[in-house]
Amino acid sequence: MSSPWIPRALREAPVLDLARVTPAARPKTALLINPFYPKDPHASFGKHVLTPSLALTSIAGATPEDWDVRYWDENLLQGTPPCEPFPQVVGITVHLTFAQRAYELAAWYRARGAKVILGGLHVLSCPEEAAPHADALAIGEGAQIWPRILRDIDRGELQPTYRGSYRVPYRNDPAPRRDLLPRRSFLTTTSLIATRGCHNRCGFCYLATDGLAMPYQMRDVEQVVEEFRADRQPYAVFTDNNLGSRPDYLRSLCQAIRPLGVIWSAAVTIDVTDDPSLVREMALAGCTGVFIGFESLSGANLDDAGKKTPSPAEYKSRVGILHDNGIQVNGSFVLGFDHDQPDVFARTVNWIEEARLECATFHILTPYPGTPLFRSMEAGGRMLHKNWNLYDTAHAVFQPKNMTPEELEAGYSWCYERLFSHTSIWRRRPADWRAVVPYLAMSYLYKRSNWFWHLLIQHRLTGPVWRPIVESTRRRHLRFRRRLEAQTDSHEPKRAGTVVSAGV
Ligand code: SF4
Repeated sequence: MSSPWIPRALREAPVLDLARVTPAARPKTALLINPFYPKDPHASFGKHVLTPSLALTSIAGATPEDWDVRYWDENLLQGTPPCEPFPQVVGITVHLTFAQRAYELAAWYRARGAKVILGGLHVLSCPEEAAPHADALAIGEGAQIWPRILRDIDRGELQPTYRGSYRVPYRNDPAPRRDLLPRRSFLTTTSLIATRGCHNRCGFCYLATDGLAMPYQMRDVEQVVEEFRADRQPYAVFTDNNLGSRPDYLRSLCQAIRPLGVIWSAAVTIDVTDDPSLVREMALAGCTGVFIGFESLSGANLDDAGKKTPSPAEYKSRVGILHDNGIQVNGSFVLGFDHDQPDVFARTVNWIEEARLECATFHILTPYPGTPLFRSMEAGGRMLHKNWNLYDTAHAVFQPKNMTPEELEAGYSWCYERLFSHTSIWRRRPADWRAVVPYLAMSYLYKRSNWFWHLLIQHRLTGPVWRPIVESTRRRHLRFRRRLEAQTDSHEPKRAGTVVSAGV
């Protein structure tokens, strides 16, 4: 099966000019870089610019006032990171799939006199690999250790390794510096994090990485609401791993957000539907979409992964509870578990269509270094290679049990092809006729318009193009809320107008 077309700007990092002569480093200037990573040609290219990650803006927020800090995300397609003025310190996030690019950037800046600090999940799981590429490693919670690193650089006492604990109260972290973000480049700049961690510990999840001791923590509801208000945008995305791990907290957060009259989406687990009154509370607070990791429709796979979740037989009725409250569902599915047979692809997409999920994402099972899954695959001799560039959940990097790696990759591609087909989009249309036209508009713009996403990104048009759609969604949702409030006595929720989904 041939890969779909992908523009060069989305598959190759911008070229670093090795001959470039830069000015001397300016003291007390820092540059934070999110390196380029190649995009999956099967998925929507738009998903990378919906909302920024908070990792670097949070570190920027922890920068002492006498330092000048800049932010650069290579995935916004504006070329290589800036070098004038030349920064004294460069902080680079390192994740598995773009570790190679991070090391290239590190070498380029170090060769010209900058001190390079590497942090991020890959540094935590593979510190020996990252160390030769950096002047110092930041392992663990970055916002805590960044001021220490800058102080030590000031004193000429930089240490090779710094460690931050995820056990320090989360509320103590400074607010992220959203003012550094190019607002036009994102659908919304209001990424929020209210909680950290998850009540689950699935064996394949990065949260199960050795050394990542991350207890579930919640920030004060008032802090989160204030950040939402301060960014003055109608739509926010909660980037928490699982906003619903503590239902009592989620309920109070919803009650605090409700008066703002805004809309938002979040990742939760399907057990959030254990209590339909909580789902109602989410809808009344402006939740228009949830991202749910169903992972698999096989209970045996879920048991192997150690995921505590309701039975897959209940999934459909639970999706119905969310739909009845006007909340769209973007489901995430992992392919290639040991109980998956070659029919898993068709069965999964058929189910998605029957349950009328507005959106879905697929991932080939990928054993991340340091996780229980990685250890068991390695012990079983099933890992095919350690080319981290291909650990992007779009490639089979291990030997599946009931099919070949090629069959797994072909099945994965087929799932996306089928999901984004006209037929599938139509089959998954909302039950409420009023919602059908906006749903189709959103589906076609988001999922079938990959040919023009890179132009939107390059010309910083993502925000301006999406903002009117987001605002009209917000207004429609407010009308739906009024109907929902009015029927409190009838116990019979009506279906909402189409809303921005968790993935959009
Ligand atoms: S439920 Fe999701 S976030 Fe939580 S451990 Fe499992 S995969 Fe990770």
